[in-house]
Amino acid sequence: MCRVIHSPEYGRYDLGPEHPFSPVRGRMLLELLEALGVELDPVRPEPLPPEALLAVHEKAYVDAVEAASRGESLDDPGRWGLGTADNPIVPGMAEGARAIAGGTVLGARLLVEGETRRVLQLGGGLHHARPAMASGFCLYNDLALAIHEMVSAGWHVAYIDIDVHHGDGVQEIFYGSDRVLTLSLHETGEYLFPGTGWLHEMGRGMGRGLTLNLPLEPFTEGDTYREVLVEIADAALSWFRPDAVVVQAGADAHFSDPLADLMLTTRDYEAIYRDLLRIVDRTAHGRVLFTLGGGYSLAATPRIWAILALVLLGLPVPERLPEAWRTRWSERLGIELPETLHDPGNPYEPIPRRPEVLRADREALRRLLDAVAPIWL
Ligand SMILES: [Zn+2]
Repeated sequence: MCRVIHSPEYGRYDLGPEHPFSPVRGRMLLELLEALGVELDPVRPEPLPPEALLAVHEKAYVDAVEAASRGESLDDPGRWGLGTADNPIVPGMAEGARAIAGGTVLGARLLVEGETRRVLQLGGGLHHARPAMASGFCLYNDLALAIHEMVSAGWHVAYIDIDVHHGDGVQEIFYGSDRVLTLSLHETGEYLFPGTGWLHEMGRGMGRGLTLNLPLEPFTEGDTYREVLVEIADAALSWFRPDAVVVQAGADAHFSDPLADLMLTTRDYEAIYRDLLRIVDRTAHGRVLFTLGGGYSLAATPRIWAILALVLLGLPVPERLPEAWRTRWSERLGIELPETLHDPGNPYEPIPRRPEVLRADREALRRLLDAVAPIWL
């Protein structure tokens, strides 16, 4: 049984009408699930109080974000990564970010308390937020806060990040921990923000061998992505045997995403969700918390996450999009949404494998497995 977490307060995390990390994505998703007749019955979380953020953030940073969010002017906002195009200062942003963090932490609590084994947080995934720096649309690191909650209960936690960007904030926070294994698959930092997530970033001290990065070539398509994801996730979790898994399920590796260059389809996403659940069931007692994340194609992202919700809830994935939803949002956005929940057929499917991409991605996987082999003995 999967519990769903959501609060209307998440909509307060709105960085402006032109900003890609738009709450419209969440609204489209909720309305789509409703139109599909899915009974979500979401648990509504309380926002985290500012002091709870200190588990992973520095106090001076939290003070600065909260002050900026109240409209106070900061001496040097750039010092905190604030006031940039990616992280503009917007009134209420801190409250929105704390509402989201409250939801992800609640998901961790439901797992720790044995309320459920499967949680879908319909928001969050702010994986770039660092201890004292806003970055990549992210203010407060809800994922790290949730992982910290589980570690505080004595658990070992595996974090799997399928967002197209490197999960640098979560990696940094647990880089020296022997309680948390992080695995990020992403388009190589050679071409994509944040420019990190290299094979050689493998953790520090007690955490050595528990930070895993698989940088992928641009134009990596779904079959190759799944092949390397399943092999590394299966190997890592079979060795680490976590008490629970947190998945950052960003949808920006889709072929239509405007910010990146991977080539996943909705069918690949569905298969990936099922792959991950199978691995979690086998290696982590079936305990998993999924969050949302990046995903900037308004035509694709709500469909991808609706498929995620259907898979987690054990419901069939219908063929057609509800016509009323499709018409309403096509008009509002001024784009023509497809008639189907999955990507329409030609010209996008199937996406052929490129031999040079497959070779490079397999080579990256082999080098990663070779590097961790002596540590995982
Ligand atoms: Zn992303």
